[in-house]
Amino acid sequence: MSTTDTTNATIGLLSDLVAFDTTSHKSNRALIGFVEDYLAGHGVASHLIPTADGEKASLFATIGPADVPGIGLSGHTDVVPADPAAWTSSPYALRENGGRLYGRGTADMKGYLACVLAMVPEFKRRKLKVPLHIVFSYDEEVGCTGVRPMIAEMGDRLPKPRAVIVGEPTSMAVVDAHKGPVRWHVEVTGRAAHSSMAHLGVNAISVAARLIGELDAIEHELAALPPDPRFTPPYPTLQVTEISGGIASNIVPAICRFGFEVRSMPGLDVDAIEQRLAAFAQTQCLPDMQRLAPEARIDIRQTNRVPPFGADRMSEVVALALKLAGQNETGAVSYATEAGLFQASGVPAVVCGPGDIAQAHTADEWVAISELERCVAFLAHLADWSEAQ
Ligand SMILES: [Zn+2]
Repeated sequence: MSTTDTTNATIGLLSDLVAFDTTSHKSNRALIGFVEDYLAGHGVASHLIPTADGEKASLFATIGPADVPGIGLSGHTDVVPADPAAWTSSPYALRENGGRLYGRGTADMKGYLACVLAMVPEFKRRKLKVPLHIVFSYDEEVGCTGVRPMIAEMGDRLPKPRAVIVGEPTSMAVVDAHKGPVRWHVEVTGRAAHSSMAHLGVNAISVAARLIGELDAIEHELAALPPDPRFTPPYPTLQVTEISGGIASNIVPAICRFGFEVRSMPGLDVDAIEQRLAAFAQTQCLPDMQRLAPEARIDIRQTNRVPPFGADRMSEVVALALKLAGQNETGAVSYATEAGLFQASGVPAVVCGPGDIAQAHTADEWVAISELERCVAFLAHLADWSEAQ
């Protein structure tokens, strides 16, 4: 296939993929069925890893020798919600204008999926020595939850890849480190009272405020850590992101709930942050609360954890990605990807994909056709490398 043919095939596939509304809370099965049929049409068998209710599935497929660990091409099929009113045209109908392709997920990250799929006939034609695995997941946008069951199967029901290239939008830069969000939910239970009889109540909002004060102190300490200039900002961040409490202006509130998040960096001990908050609650808050109200509680629960990603200094797949992309320097990003999860499970990872993260999650999201062409060239170099092994 000529370069123009591959570009046209990529755009056609992207148009098909964008037409499936795979917002994270919806099923992705129609899209997965489409990919499965497409691969079957090229003689490639798919293994699906469905959720218990069958509403969603990941897809794993191998092109090349079955008995050799391969390079995984990893992407998520879900997208963030789109508000059609904020878009110039339908988010689910691909529109081309001035070298840009508009549609939800074009940058994040159906553009990469389309490039990988468009290259399947070429991959089939080559005499690959190292196989290429298609590794498509779901629910990345809601805490990288969908890829976890698939990773758990690797080395068991699925082959364990030698390495994985995660195609999140990096403008085809090679990224070997990213931050990882860890999130907690805190519920403070005090005791309600008429606000004129405040001495009979335990004010859950006031206690939450003290806990948040402690989190503020931790945030400042994190900001004062030795900076790592590869990240923006160059330190781990901590933010209280949600809060609710109280039911009326004349009642001492019995309940206050809040959420907070740490954007962790490789090497940060996030468990120590939770332990410090729990110790503060235990020693500075609960004794006073329980003197009046024995039922008073402070529950701190971790709700999601995406590990930060830092590739090994001597990582083979980082060196390979640099070679394929024709670059000699890696970058780091502050958004999370599935790379940290692969790395944590013993599958070395690197992040490199078409499109600009600045366009991800926005109205009128777009990817440049030139970015897709660069990605296709990268994948063609990957096939060259595999043949030469
Ligand atoms: Zn993404």
